[in-house]
Amino acid sequence: MIVIMKPTAQPEQIESLKKELEGLGLQIHFSQGMNTTLMGLVGDTTRIDIGKIASMDIVEEVKRIQEPYKKANRKFHPADTVIKVGEATIGGGGFAVIAGPCSVETPEQICAVAQAVKASGASLLRGGAFKPRTSPYSFQGLRGEGIQLLLEAKKQTGLPIVTEIMSYEDIDLFEDVDVIQIGARNMQNFELLKRVGRLNKPILLKRGLSSTIEEFLMSAEYIMAEGNEQVILCERGIRTFETKTRNTLDLSAVPLLKKLSHLPVIIDPSHATGIPWMVEPLTLAAIAAGADGVMIEVHNDPPKALCDGAQSLRPEQFDALMTKVKKTTAFFQTL
Ligand code: PEP
Ligand code: MN
Repeated sequence: MIVIMKPTAQPEQIESLKKELEGLGLQIHFSQGMNTTLMGLVGDTTRIDIGKIASMDIVEEVKRIQEPYKKANRKFHPADTVIKVGEATIGGGGFAVIAGPCSVETPEQICAVAQAVKASGASLLRGGAFKPRTSPYSFQGLRGEGIQLLLEAKKQTGLPIVTEIMSYEDIDLFEDVDVIQIGARNMQNFELLKRVGRLNKPILLKRGLSSTIEEFLMSAEYIMAEGNEQVILCERGIRTFETKTRNTLDLSAVPLLKKLSHLPVIIDPSHATGIPWMVEPLTLAAIAAGADGVMIEVHNDPPKALCDGAQSLRPEQFDALMTKVKKTTAFFQTL
């Protein structure tokens, strides 16, 4: 971090700021110009409040040189984080496929979809029990009962389950859930992030609708700073001016996140586009971009789905997609 002092700053004021910063465990290096003094702060500046320094009368400007996230940063952890969930592995070179309906609806529906996606080669089952819906009048999910149905589907297929938590009040219901999802709308629910950060369970963190990459990584940092380093990043499309697709899939987020962070990165082409026929090309594009996996909505009877039927693949479409996923991942492994 660099602090640029105002030309009017007096030596004793500069010395007093230096002492204050040294008290925070930082080393201070000075660069003296004709009119300006620059202070270089060396050490862990993640806990420094930039605004507080910038608001001092003697300070012209403060610039961060290093990213404000440390635990999620690849610079401090060069090796890929590999997350093991049951038999499944996310990160470290493979391509994990999470599939299932938007919402858990009935025992027949979730078990039929679980069996179908397992047979096609999915390694984890998704399904929403607590649903963040735009309208309070829309189906809100089966809540605790939905989680019980997911556990039944897990028993039948052996697939680990991924489901979203919306409020920490419900945490007891998630005891046997394998991966807890934090949805796009809660990406900056910092209290929720801190609470799941104290769990010993992988967290699938979805990018907020209009969040920058840095904000996304800072949310991962919130979880990791509490001790839980098992975070999976999910790019699920961001809000842009485009209306032809539900969101805009930011595919450049994949190589960017992989460069900046060691955490596994997956994409969700279902929510990113809202269009079932776009799921396949974007899944293949995600493999090419270096993603560690994908999360896809699959429903056994999309027109009757209680949520997001229009973007869901039918099991046979998912099966055809999986054939291409296998060929494409095998091809990329030869490069
Ligand atoms: C979901 O995955 O079910 C979901 C609601 O996604 P998002 O939070 O990305 O909108
Ligand atoms: Mn959905």
